Amino acid sequence: MALIVQKYGGSSVGDAEKIKHVAKRVIATQKAGNKVVVVVSAMGDTTDELLDLANQVTDNPSPRELDMLLTSGERISMALLSLAINSLGAKSRSFTGSQAGIITDEVHGNARIAEVTPGRIQEALDEGDIAIVAGFQGFNRESKDITTLGRGGSDTTAVALAAALNADLCEIYSDVDGVYTADPRQIPSARKLDSIDVESMLELAAAGAKILHIRAVEFARRHGVDLRVRSTFSEDPGTIVFATNNGEHMEESVVSGVATDKGQSKILIEGIPDQPGKAAEVFTLVAEAGANIDMIVQNTATGVDVEAKISDISFTLPKGDRAKVMAALEAAQGSIGFKNVEFDDEIGKLSVVGAGMRTHSGVSATLFGALAKAGINIEMISTSEIRISVVTDINQVDDAARAVHSAFELDSDIEATVYAGTGR
Ligand code: ASP
Ligand code: MG
Repeated sequence: MALIVQKYGGSSVGDAEKIKHVAKRVIATQKAGNKVVVVVSAMGDTTDELLDLANQVTDNPSPRELDMLLTSGERISMALLSLAINSLGAKSRSFTGSQAGIITDEVHGNARIAEVTPGRIQEALDEGDIAIVAGFQGFNRESKDITTLGRGGSDTTAVALAAALNADLCEIYSDVDGVYTADPRQIPSARKLDSIDVESMLELAAAGAKILHIRAVEFARRHGVDLRVRSTFSEDPGTIVFATNNGEHMEESVVSGVATDKGQSKILIEGIPDQPGKAAEVFTLVAEAGANIDMIVQNTATGVDVEAKISDISFTLPKGDRAKVMAALEAAQGSIGFKNVEFDDEIGKLSVVGAGMRTHSGVSATLFGALAKAGINIEMISTSEIRISVVTDINQVDDAARAVHSAFELDSDIEATVYAGTGR
């Protein structure tokens, strides 16, 4: 008997009919001879609606109360799904994150899982029940408070439970048939991948691909959990994300996919003294502000005498962190001794990812050739072993993605199906 963890996203449980449909799928999985644990997200756009509500009653919601509020979304779907399953004659029980043993640190809004103690889930399974778990939430032992794992965190709940229960498979159900070479909402000619290695999936998620929560992919890699990403609304087998050596035989693609991210800002610090320790001063400050930076470029300041020994540093960071980092830098202008600092929110990041880049040459030439042909100006470039990212104007990044997707011959003849969801 296999143990399968299934996670259903918000658009899969968006209304009563969809919940009944999921109930049937879950029961069919159990009837096929499996033990089943189901993790659910909040219905449709519930989480965003709850956030909107909070912002209507206060400008400055307390993180603790926000977590209390947002976790209610997942509790609604877990109870409704359990009711639907019971009414179809199968046995199920629902559990909150804390009842399921998801123990986290105390960081409200972005807690990390510290431990998983799924005793009650195991018990329910042993008694032949289907266990339904509210995604995206946990419990901190010290504060005795409820926490959330960050937006999109139900994927992480599912992977963590799969690892702790030593599940045979972790299936992530959404409104598209799997992992595509690009977001099919943006590029309808995107092609579905049959499989992808977990490293490439991690880079794609970090580059802005929304199909999987980045921390879920990290968890899968660390604990060796293979994932199957598939649609609730079709029988397509989806995409396997190999985190174990079950994927060893598979051939590495030079480029697995293209991702874009419009959620970044760029900060440019001009006229920094070109001497040891200055970059450390800047980035210590940025770290203390709690920002997670991505690309960094340093170059000799333009238009000045080389002998003057000053340089410019620019870097990208999430838009939401931009204001506090700008404030911190402005406050330290005198002590660091730079001339000017400015920001640009109108940037887009485009990344191409593929494990085969390690051994293939010519990827950069194809990428930059395609961008040149499309007349797109590049503001920044960064690379890893298996990724190349560029920053462009925000209004050009979609065109850039399409041009690059075609240049790497990733286009499919059949249009990708998006079954549901607003993509919000
Ligand atoms: N409902 C939460 C969100 O919308 C968690 C999730 O969907 O995974 O972010
Ligand atoms: Mg959601």
